[in-house]
Amino acid sequence: MSVLIVGSTALDSIKTPKAENPRLLGGSASHAAVAASFFSPVKLVGVVGDDFPKRYLELYNRHKIDLAGLQILPGKTFHWSGEYEVNMNNRRTLLTELGVFETFNPTLPAAYQKSQFVLLANIAPALQHHVLNQMRRPKFVVADTMDLWLNIALPDLLKLLKRLDGFVLNDSEAHQLTKEDNVFAAMKKIHKLGPKYVIIKKGSHGSILSGPKGFFICPAYPLHSVVDPTGAGDSFVGGMMGYLATARGSIDSNIRRGMIYGSVTASFCCEGFGLNRTTKVKRSQIDARVKELEKLTRF
Ligand code: AMP
Repeated sequence: MSVLIVGSTALDSIKTPKAENPRLLGGSASHAAVAASFFSPVKLVGVVGDDFPKRYLELYNRHKIDLAGLQILPGKTFHWSGEYEVNMNNRRTLLTELGVFETFNPTLPAAYQKSQFVLLANIAPALQHHVLNQMRRPKFVVADTMDLWLNIALPDLLKLLKRLDGFVLNDSEAHQLTKEDNVFAAMKKIHKLGPKYVIIKKGSHGSILSGPKGFFICPAYPLHSVVDPTGAGDSFVGGMMGYLATARGSIDSNIRRGMIYGSVTASFCCEGFGLNRTTKVKRSQIDARVKELEKLTRF
């Protein structure tokens, strides 16, 4: 089965303490789609401007990402710029230019509307609703978000939570949403807002799932050096959804392993700028790191 992914398709200009790279292929949907593509077919919903480099379209194609839902409109592609501190867990946004995203109002191709697995990657909650409204009885819907939407679109986000199976957010966003410092207490409150599965990401410390079968602590793959963590969260949830879309059996019996695959895919994302590393990875390299994680966490 395929995964439908909507989110930002962007040009990212990223500055780390060691290097600076302008106009990389980025966006929440790009990272999630490439990650998911290692496991299942992907249908992308997004918009880019006529300045979007052809070689980036070719990268999507190389990952066999279905682009029937990617609009190319006259105007500028969404451009985001961020700068990391020496401690790469800290990042500040330098610039967000919406460009063609400002008026984006997608109508999904008929083949997209039947997708069973839907990932509403980070983008305005109104747009996440708009896409979900066009879906016919999806099996598993997961959304991601960011602090910006908690600040400026909370009512839309709260409405969205009621429609989700799963919600993925990082620890500071969980604190912002629930006012709870303790992640387990925060997850309990988030369940009450709708989603049956809540995943809180903790950056290089992994992630925690709270679901019908209890908690699962998912480790991050131990990396000795991080080049650029942009898109790691999107790669995590994209990898997990791609895995779930092809795994046999119930969500409950697969979601833990799905998180491990997501975690490993995210580790590759951190090893290069933008999507530079992820787009060169082979499935066998992902499987090898999953085996290593299995060994590391067995006791
Ligand atoms: P992450 O590192 O997981 O937070 O994701 C970073 C990605 O989010 C970058 O590729 C950006 O293009 C994208 N991004 C940044 N700001 C926004 C925004 N306001 N809406 C949608 N995507 C964004």
